[in-house]
Amino acid sequence: MGIRVSKFGGSSVADADQMRKVRAIVRAEPDRRFVVPSAPGKRSPADIKITDLLYRTHDAVAAGESIDSLFGLISARYHEIVTDLGLSFDLDLALAEVHDRIQQGAGADYAASRGEYLSGLVIAELLDRPLIDPATMIRFDVHGQFLPEETQAAVSERLGEEPSGVVPGFYGALPDGSIKTFSRGGSDVTGAIVARGVGAAVYENWTDVPGLLMTDPRVVDSPRTIEELTYRELRELAYMGATVLHDEAIFPVREAGIPVHIRNTNNPEAAGTRISRGGLEGSPTERITGIAGRKDFTILALEKTLMNAEVGFGRRLLGVLEKHGISWEHMPSGIDTLSIVLKSDVVAGRLDALVEEIQLECRPDSLEVQPGMALIATVGRGMTHVPGTAAMLFGALAQARINIRMIDQGSSELNIIVGVENDDFERTVRTIYDAFVVEDD
Ligand code: ASP
Repeated sequence: MGIRVSKFGGSSVADADQMRKVRAIVRAEPDRRFVVPSAPGKRSPADIKITDLLYRTHDAVAAGESIDSLFGLISARYHEIVTDLGLSFDLDLALAEVHDRIQQGAGADYAASRGEYLSGLVIAELLDRPLIDPATMIRFDVHGQFLPEETQAAVSERLGEEPSGVVPGFYGALPDGSIKTFSRGGSDVTGAIVARGVGAAVYENWTDVPGLLMTDPRVVDSPRTIEELTYRELRELAYMGATVLHDEAIFPVREAGIPVHIRNTNNPEAAGTRISRGGLEGSPTERITGIAGRKDFTILALEKTLMNAEVGFGRRLLGVLEKHGISWEHMPSGIDTLSIVLKSDVVAGRLDALVEEIQLECRPDSLEVQPGMALIATVGRGMTHVPGTAAMLFGALAQARINIRMIDQGSSELNIIVGVENDDFERTVRTIYDAFVVEDD
């Protein structure tokens, strides 16, 4: 099939039993040549992630406090894993170095990165593969900006020499060699970088959920798993708040058109979710792929007679936003009306000034501020060029007596966004899900 790069998240390496599952998965498929582990995550809801403990050790050093009890927890966690797995590498030596360097003030990024590094040592011996330190390949500039081109070249060159290997996730290095991490959850980025660097046929992202769910399980009871979607759809769902795998975390593979496969370490037989560039085989069986939404938007609704004939109205309006450094989310328009959708937290404290300036610059007949709005996106490549989707959506919302305050359909025909009151958010998501998914069954 071609090389597979397999990234395992924190829950997949949380203890020795999970690590055994990793070994079984990797051994089951010789194409799984490169493995990217996270740091051990939570074993139970009350547990603390190793990465969090490591950040705390750094904070303790900065506050002039002892790190011994915190470090004791970290050390015990790795000892438990290494003893249970019967590994022979010198864990104490590795831990002592980490302890001393944190104590000497090596910095938050160094401290945090050691979770993945120590995980890498464990998995490397467990799989009998070399540990390849990402600090030698993943590069950042002096300002801490990630350097994609240099990194990809270095990764291709270095990993091109290896038949297989273990590359710890989450970090790389600054030009002076000191450690720099990605933002939290950054092992996903490392996996994508490695997949791109070795020209993988697929980037496997192993986690503890069945895949991407059609909607938020806190709103809809046990939503279905999405089996296949495109990067575009992922972007739309992620923008609207869907989690699991953030679209930005996989930009290296998205650019290269390498498919991502989200899979469950605790149920490797399950189909998981496949994300690819498009051109997915056949037309989708479902009209919609997912529903995602967010609360707390503010809409500025402007009205002005003959707005369509007034050259520069939009530019002046957007100019005011630009001047205030505010980025806008959506801009649906009608005849003589135009609405700007903004995130409420972004305009907090400066809404009055903004409104005043818009009045001055654009002289609208009316300007209404509608706070407390929620947006819900119904996303699906299955709705493109297929009549009736809007009718189903709006029909269902009408029947549920939900008042729609705003409608926006992306030009891609990939989504329909509705704006409703914050209080109607959950009901709207459930109504749409029921209309498209449950009644479809
Ligand atoms: N261990 C890091 C974190 O907790 C990175 C990762 O797991 O992706 O954020």
